[in-house]
Amino acid sequence: MTIVFKVSDNIKPLMIDFYQDRFVENKPPYSVFQVKDIDCVTTLYESGKVMFQGIGADIEASYWIEEERIKNNRLIDIKTGKDKKDTKESNYFLNMSTIGSDEVGTGDFFGPIVVTATYVSKENISFLTELGVRDSKKITDDKIKKIAPEIIKKIPYTTFILTNEMYNKNWNNDLNMNKIKAILHNKVLYAMTNKEPSCKKIVVDQFVYPKKYYEYLKDTPNKVTNITFMTKAEDKVLSVAAASIISRYVFLKEMYKLSQELNIEIPKGAGANVDETAIKIAKTYGFQKLNEIAKLNFKNKDKILEELNK
Ligand code: MG
Repeated sequence: MTIVFKVSDNIKPLMIDFYQDRFVENKPPYSVFQVKDIDCVTTLYESGKVMFQGIGADIEASYWIEEERIKNNRLIDIKTGKDKKDTKESNYFLNMSTIGSDEVGTGDFFGPIVVTATYVSKENISFLTELGVRDSKKITDDKIKKIAPEIIKKIPYTTFILTNEMYNKNWNNDLNMNKIKAILHNKVLYAMTNKEPSCKKIVVDQFVYPKKYYEYLKDTPNKVTNITFMTKAEDKVLSVAAASIISRYVFLKEMYKLSQELNIEIPKGAGANVDETAIKIAKTYGFQKLNEIAKLNFKNKDKILEELNK
């Protein structure tokens, strides 16, 4: 695979800085530098063209295409290396079929992490707009419960629930929350892109630098690349907004089930009320119960243990 595009002047020094430790000694004629990684050879030419060659070319190029988008508002087509015309990203995605993903539960001591990807076709844009899906963060839980079932009926989606048992079992020093998010986003996006292979516009609500995102997926076999990372994407792209709503809906249902099962209101977040509830649960069911229903790498755990050992 070979990807070539023209780099903006303000990106060139960033590339040089990024790759400088790995420059090859015998660089090709008319090149500024060349770097040879196992899966990609990257060459920047004096003309300003950059060339990525190898099986990892799309990942390597995606990172710099993102830099161009963020810093210069350029949208570069990864296939042709040409600039796309409408460079205003919100306009660009407004009337297009997109696949988008979003997650919930990563800041909550109780409850699972839920990640969803949806496919919103052009034809379904007005349906979602009329439901009031935009600005999904501002939508109350009550409204989520009303509109999510409508969305689920009509919009193709994939949801994955990471149980706390799985989470606690796999948590180690190598793993951090952003890596978990990257792996889970990739998982639902992979499933969704397989269901809708014709959709080439994939948007993720940005939680980490794109380069880091792909680094976290180094050992993942089925990678979705050519993603557009966008901050506040849930306000700009309907597939992300819908994914956010479905994730929240599934999360609310899980929290409700938990509350019913334990006969106690399970709070969201990671504040003092969460500690109080956890202590009550541990006193009734034993501390081990928390392994099934809470994220035990959170600092709350220490406070809870301290209180229990008093
Ligand atoms: Mg998000």
